[in-house]
Amino acid sequence: MKQELIRTEKMNVVSQLAASVAHEIRNPMTSVRGFMQLMQKENLTKEQHLYISISIEELDRAQEIINQYLALAKPQTDQYETIDLTSVIQQSIDVMHSYAILNSIHITQQVESSLEIEGLKLEIQQVLINIIKNAIEAIKSEGEIWISAAKNSNGFVSIQIQDNGVGMTEDQMKKLGSPYYSTKEKGTGLGLTVCHQIVKQMGGQIMIKSELKKGTCFTINLPSIK
Ligand code: ADP
Ligand code: MG
Repeated sequence: MKQELIRTEKMNVVSQLAASVAHEIRNPMTSVRGFMQLMQKENLTKEQHLYISISIEELDRAQEIINQYLALAKPQTDQYETIDLTSVIQQSIDVMHSYAILNSIHITQQVESSLEIEGLKLEIQQVLINIIKNAIEAIKSEGEIWISAAKNSNGFVSIQIQDNGVGMTEDQMKKLGSPYYSTKEKGTGLGLTVCHQIVKQMGGQIMIKSELKKGTCFTINLPSIK
């Protein structure tokens, strides 16, 4: 089944106030995380070590939720600039590389050189990281992810991220992009909502093809500027 990722629920964009609260909360969290890491260097029992590891993991999860909310709260097309998409894709793969290795997942890539788009580097990076992270989590352990990017004849750059993970049913696919929809125990259900918002703002679209137990392919089409 193939469909376009659309937001199925009408969503209130998070207010500026929420965004500034999120910013304020980030700083104390970063300092708590720093002290936790220092404590891990002490002579601890196995249990104490585990408790601190869990605390750090949970802090990171809270941080991820805040980052996703902040991304929803600030659509600013007036700050768009020309982006070297080829290197942003490379950087995003690099960021996710250790997570992939940790799960015995191999990433193969075929990215055209000198791809350029109009947008914000951090935003498109967040889109790519969210989708690659989902691909890794869909495979769980041992599998392949194929990433390709090329300019096509209709003036769009097409980025494909394909995995051989669990795949989705038609019902699951219909729910994609609704805020808080997640099948993961510790999921935020915000990743794809953010992806959709960012890509739409850039004048692009996200297409999804998926087959249960076979895998999933995300295609991101973005207007090319060359
Ligand atoms: P989260 O990752 O926190 O669950 P997302 O918005 O990123 O939230 O994804 C929502 C849901 O979409 C996931 O919980 C999962 O069920 C499904 N999903 C996303 N990407 C894939 C994929 N590559 N393969 C299978 N299911 C996926
Ligand atoms: Mg996700």
